[in-house]
Amino acid sequence: MESLVIIGNGITGITTARLVRKQSDRPIIVISDETDFFYSRPALMYIYMGHMKFEHTKPYEDWFWEKNKIQLLRATVMSIDTDAKSIVLNNGQKLPYGQLVIATGSRTNKFGWPGQDLPGVQGLYGMRDIELMEKNTSNISKAVIVGGGLIGIEMAEMLHSRNIPVTFLVRETNYWDNILPQEEAKLVGRHIGEYGIDLRLGTQLKEILAGNDGRVRAIVTDKGEEIGCQFVGLTAGVAPNTDVAKNSKIEINRGVLVNEFLETNIADVYAAGDCAEFKMNRPRHPKIEQLWYTGRMQAEVLAKTLCGNRTAYDRGVWFNSAKFFDIEYQTYGFVSNVPVQDEESLYWEHPDGKHSIRIVYHKTGQTVIGFNLFGIRYRQAICERWIKEQRTIEYVLENLGAANFDPEFFSEFEKEAIDLFNSKHPERKVFLKRRRGLFQNA
Ligand SMILES: Cc1cc2nc3c(=O)[nH]c(=O)nc-3n(C[C@H](O)[C@H](O)[C@H](O)COP(=O)(O)OP(=O)(O)OC[C@H]3O[C@@H](n4cnc5c(N)ncnc54)[C@H](O)[C@@H]3O)c2cc1C
Repeated sequence: MESLVIIGNGITGITTARLVRKQSDRPIIVISDETDFFYSRPALMYIYMGHMKFEHTKPYEDWFWEKNKIQLLRATVMSIDTDAKSIVLNNGQKLPYGQLVIATGSRTNKFGWPGQDLPGVQGLYGMRDIELMEKNTSNISKAVIVGGGLIGIEMAEMLHSRNIPVTFLVRETNYWDNILPQEEAKLVGRHIGEYGIDLRLGTQLKEILAGNDGRVRAIVTDKGEEIGCQFVGLTAGVAPNTDVAKNSKIEINRGVLVNEFLETNIADVYAAGDCAEFKMNRPRHPKIEQLWYTGRMQAEVLAKTLCGNRTAYDRGVWFNSAKFFDIEYQTYGFVSNVPVQDEESLYWEHPDGKHSIRIVYHKTGQTVIGFNLFGIRYRQAICERWIKEQRTIEYVLENLGAANFDPEFFSEFEKEAIDLFNSKHPERKVFLKRRRGLFQNA
């Protein structure tokens, strides 16, 4: 039987392997140059912070793979020969494949800053970065982080946990306001400041300077300020890792190009997860999805296709969650960072500045299309259902209690959101029908 070869043992590669194994007895080989076993990348920060050991981040016991006849290979794939249907490993070995899945993930963006490769300067993507960060931050007195996305704030929290003072350079006017509306971006910015992080908004890195020992000694901002430091974290986003496909006949753009079936332009070669880029235009959907759960969902449909049940990928209602120090964030559906014509949003923020609810809806039809929640957790299934069923803002507000994740542990602010709506729309007052969310459906 022809073998399935998967490059990358992240959530995408491993989910594909597991689900194909459930449906078929064919040989499966998963190759990774990073770790022997699959681990949870989002948990990397907790290893550095001492909350977890690497062993704890592995979702499966080491015996699982042999038992399920999934062969794990620790190697780097150097090239792909699609005519010969084989790949070449770093030890020179040629490995034939029947079907090939490229699931090589992302890599840290570097924008050609002078000094970006100095010792003491690094990104945060994988296990090697955690080991390097351990070395790079021992006995230091000052760190600078460049780039204000989700990995940047994780790095700030990691350094803060070791009492290392941090200056955080963020290009945007407010933290992550290329994604978040201004109110939420300011909420997170204030919270970062409360942790003693020196947040520099609207500030970019110009260059990184070396000391006499050849290691980083300072950075210079685009405003001409020199900031002394012994560590620089580069967290200005990630880009698809397409290296393995570069000298092959497989089409790449920013990522490895795929259709809705995650098929590349070459028969029997597929790509999925962070490294894949969709060819087709999908309004308001990114062409590259760099999330844990989208990697898993892509793998779920890809496994079906690989087993003969050709299935298109449909991500459904957008969902994401994250944590900004101790404020939880969840988003469902479409929430634009800037006002959109024919969309209105109800934004309520608690006076403590740490809890907020945003519900976005169409002006015409009043149907709800998105939620942003900070410091409050709403049930994913219920919010998604309301979006899919095109419920009106009035309906959603009246039933908001049903979305409350767990009222025993999370405060309820439904009444406050409704009061705000009623104060804005006295002509169409709504009343809360559902309070507690436990065991309820709306
Ligand atoms: C610090 C951090 C925190 C994150 N937190 C979250 C979060 O909270 N929520 C969320 O949704 N997402 C989060 N993400 C993003 C999420 O982890 C990724 O979207 C996801 O891991 C991508 O999975 P993947 O399987 O596509 O690729 P990866 O997990 O990157 O796996 C690809 C693997 O392929 C290997 N590889 C690459 N090229 C080769 C080659 N030529 N030969 C052999 N092996 C190769 C790589 O070394 C890597 O091990 C986080 C990412 C980071 C870096």
